[in-house]
Amino acid sequence: MAGVKEQLAILVQLQKIDKEIYNLRRAEEEKPKEIEKIQQAFQEKEKLFKELEDKLKQKKLKLKEMELELKSREDNLKKLQVQLYQVKTNKEYASMQKEIADMKADNSLLEEEIIKAMEEIDNLEKEMEKEKFSLEENRKKTEEEIAKVEKEIGELRERVKSLENSRGEFTPQIDPPLLSRYERLLINKNGHALAQVLQNSCSGCNIGLPPQIISEVSLGEKIVTCENCMRILYI
Ligand SMILES: [Zn+2]
Repeated sequence: MAGVKEQLAILVQLQKIDKEIYNLRRAEEEKPKEIEKIQQAFQEKEKLFKELEDKLKQKKLKLKEMELELKSREDNLKKLQVQLYQVKTNKEYASMQKEIADMKADNSLLEEEIIKAMEEIDNLEKEMEKEKFSLEENRKKTEEEIAKVEKEIGELRERVKSLENSRGEFTPQIDPPLLSRYERLLINKNGHALAQVLQNSCSGCNIGLPPQIISEVSLGEKIVTCENCMRILYI
């Protein structure tokens, strides 16, 4: 096994690879959230469409009710008109005539409402046609966007795999206890196990290093760690 200095130099190489692996994995972890966001945006549009659909359904039901109501009123009116010829007195005749006139007026109001409802339904159906088209376009776009993110996930995984292969070239050159210490630090320190001595400070945590520590790192006879952040120091 090589000396401490040589092993540290190898660890510095390894750290570059591991840092990249760490970043790629974080990026990969974010991807499902991206997919979820894309799906949610589409579901939101789908929901609005569904609401429009329900609104149309309600309006059609209401129209049906009004049409039935009109039909029954017209039947009543017809009955009344037949009865009109059977009344005996002028007073009765006049009162029934008034009743018929009131009913006709009410019915024509209802007819107006029915025409208005039909127009609304017609407009709503046109709007639905447009919305349906745009929803389908959106569905296609959503599928494409998801496929794109899935492709990116695949690429990230490929890149990680290839980096893991290259890290395999370095790891056998490190003492197993040192390697496992380094790997534990990788996990605990967000993929950043080594720290450089820069301007008498630790590049990992920016704390000033005592001269004793710095000279030990420079000597390179043993593995020295930053007392503050516990990272392995190199110079
Ligand atoms: Zn530190």
